[in-house]
Amino acid sequence: MTYSESFASPHRNNPTRPVKIGSVVIGGGSPFVVQSMCATKTTDVEATVAQVNLLHAAGAGMVRIAADSQNDCRALAEIRQRCPEANLSVDLQENYRLAADVAPLVDKIRYNPGHLYHFERERPWRDKVRFLVDVAGENDCAIRIGVNCGSVDPNKISFPLPQAGEGPGARAMLESALEHCELLDQLGFHRYCVSLKDSDPARVLEVNRRFAARRPDVPLHLGVTEAGMPPEGIEKTRAALIPLLAEGIGDTIRVSLTVPALRKQEEIEAGRKILEDVQAGETTVLASTRPTGLNIISCPSCSRVENEAFVELAQRVREATRYAADQPITIAVMGCRVNGPGETDHADLGLWCGPNSVNLKRGSTAIGSFSFDEAIDRLKAELDKLIAGRHSP
Ligand code: SF4
Repeated sequence: MTYSESFASPHRNNPTRPVKIGSVVIGGGSPFVVQSMCATKTTDVEATVAQVNLLHAAGAGMVRIAADSQNDCRALAEIRQRCPEANLSVDLQENYRLAADVAPLVDKIRYNPGHLYHFERERPWRDKVRFLVDVAGENDCAIRIGVNCGSVDPNKISFPLPQAGEGPGARAMLESALEHCELLDQLGFHRYCVSLKDSDPARVLEVNRRFAARRPDVPLHLGVTEAGMPPEGIEKTRAALIPLLAEGIGDTIRVSLTVPALRKQEEIEAGRKILEDVQAGETTVLASTRPTGLNIISCPSCSRVENEAFVELAQRVREATRYAADQPITIAVMGCRVNGPGETDHADLGLWCGPNSVNLKRGSTAIGSFSFDEAIDRLKAELDKLIAGRHSP
């Protein structure tokens, strides 16, 4: 039995439209699907097959794999062959054209509206979406419009003033998702879902509520991005997802945790527990949706991670900064250069991995590139300065 077979929505009285993805259906009042993503190199076929099997056996109704190159596409062909039972989703970043190579191998394509501007810059984003829709349609694939706080559509970032009750980034995320839904509808493609993810649970709550109010027909994939290491990462995710699910919002979930690849099934276990608790009547969590002390956000890692020591780096950051636990400071730890630079911009201090070094930032200002050991010492020095600056008159 997969967990996707065991949890129905307890509160949904106005179901979203059903979207078939491989052997599961999300939306339309179907049972919930708990999903995860491989943290292995896609080109490491043995490790990725093992990871897909681990997640599938744990109850993942869908497993996402990143594809950024032709080598990844070739590896994906073998992974598909060796994992015939798992529903596979591919994660595209800049190179949207890879969709044509991977769509025959997977059940769903995830694209990020904010990343459609990086590759073939002169080509309008609407043309690129048309391409993705054609490819999905020809290959029996669903689509996820995956909007992420750290890589919002650059044309929406400068949205002037937020409307009452919404955070500044929430409006950009919401408008970007709505615009893409409208285009897919115009193109006659309805087999899609949407995700609106942020590392701030309060923002996830807000933006998903607003989206569901505007597009109650579109299935929602819920998650808190870069939630971090357990137990804090699980608590942040619960803070956003339990109220949403209790309100009948959401059709599939992912708990993103910074854990070693061999512990990835913990994402499925945490997702299952959330669904069980909502079914048992839980509607809120005791923890605040906004962390009050030191907040460490870190990515769950994926094929793009640039250094295998990334998870250890995140753990070392947590250990080294425990002395500042009550300080209202956010530290972001990211695994790669694709999303690292952008997704650390809003943190007080940020680190992102290169192949042989760690890049350290203060807000959006780069401080330098350091060895793993050096980076921890420099981080502590920056943290001390920040704390001293906040306490000086
Ligand atoms: S920041 Fe990079 S390594 Fe981490 S999950 Fe995102 S794409 Fe993967």
